Amino acid sequence: MSETILVPGGAGFLGSHLCDRLVAAGHEVIALDDFSSGERAHVAQLADARRFRLLRHDITQPLPREAVAATQIYNLACPASPPHYQARPVQTTLTSVLGLWHLLELSRQSGARVFQASTSEVYGDPQVHPQTEDYVGHVNPIGPRSCYDEGKRCGEAMCFAYHRQYAVPIRVARIFNSYGPRLRPGDGRVVSNFIVQALTGQALTVYGHGEQTRSFCYVDDTVEGLIRLMNGPSEGPLNIGNPVEHTVLELAERVVRLTGSRSAIECRPLPQDDPQRRRPDISRTEAVLGWRPKVSLEDGLRETIAHFRHELGVARTFAVA
Ligand code: NAD
Ligand code: UDP
Repeated sequence: MSETILVPGGAGFLGSHLCDRLVAAGHEVIALDDFSSGERAHVAQLADARRFRLLRHDITQPLPREAVAATQIYNLACPASPPHYQARPVQTTLTSVLGLWHLLELSRQSGARVFQASTSEVYGDPQVHPQTEDYVGHVNPIGPRSCYDEGKRCGEAMCFAYHRQYAVPIRVARIFNSYGPRLRPGDGRVVSNFIVQALTGQALTVYGHGEQTRSFCYVDDTVEGLIRLMNGPSEGPLNIGNPVEHTVLELAERVVRLTGSRSAIECRPLPQDDPQRRRPDISRTEAVLGWRPKVSLEDGLRETIAHFRHELGVARTFAVA
């Protein structure tokens, strides 16, 4: 059945891939974005699609009247890269809380189902490994990451408050590190940093000694998980991530190998409160949604590297060893 779907953050990395999928499935899509970390070019391929509209809008402001038509809302609006969300911590907090409040209030009037893109960051620097949805987390409430972590935790709390008090239909996903084409060269997250550095002959900047771990999920798998969660039976929260865990140093070495780069790998200071390990337990997600990631890190990195070669106009100058 065709729906009218609002996608705040629709010009961002995940949002633009989601819009592609929703339009291809025959839905009417209205993307809202303030272009603080997204860009029109990410959805340029949809510019001629009659079923797609992109409105410049900051969700901390009252919503445009077009939003009332939506039967589903995927809230992806929020900077996700640590350097970006820490550069404007007040705006990050307000987007996570006040912006979401506008969407939940809209849903209270219209009955639209609200999907909230929450994050593995709600687990902070976890003391339980791997992380299950029952783990309540270990977050520094006043550290440099708190604008994002606590903003997202408050977002989850507010979704469940609206659900309990007003029966607003909600879906909450805890997304773990996702990567793929359309990450911006200046995004600042580890996968894009390493690939850009490797392709341009700069040293790869490993923070700390690179012993910290992450579990990287390819964007197509992530988006499939988000759509299944929105249309599935559970409010969540459900972990959406790839349970294969790697150290950051392993990632750097793999990127150097796959790009054929001669770049060195250099250690830099570890940022404050950087989580030491992160891996999703996805058994609940698998049981409820029948979802698990399909794309290996090797294949996903190859696709992402090809995207960056094109973006940066870097020819295949390095011989693959
Ligand atoms: P992104 O920065 O590429 O996209 C965020 C988009 O939201 C951008 O287009 C930005 O311009 C827009 N935006 C920010 N503040 C806004 C506001 N006030 N009003 C309107 N638009 C606004 O990041 P992403 O990786 O695509 O992440 C999308 C969502 O998924 C975020 O909510 C993020 O917290 C969540 N998430 C992502 C990951 C990941 O690995 N990509 C992991 C966990 C959670
Ligand atoms: N990181 C790194 N070098 C970089 C960028 C990030 O070593 O140039 C590390 C960072 O310290 C963290 C991991 O890579 O341990 C993932 O960082 P990212 O910013 O991608 O996301 P996070 O999971 O921290 O939100």
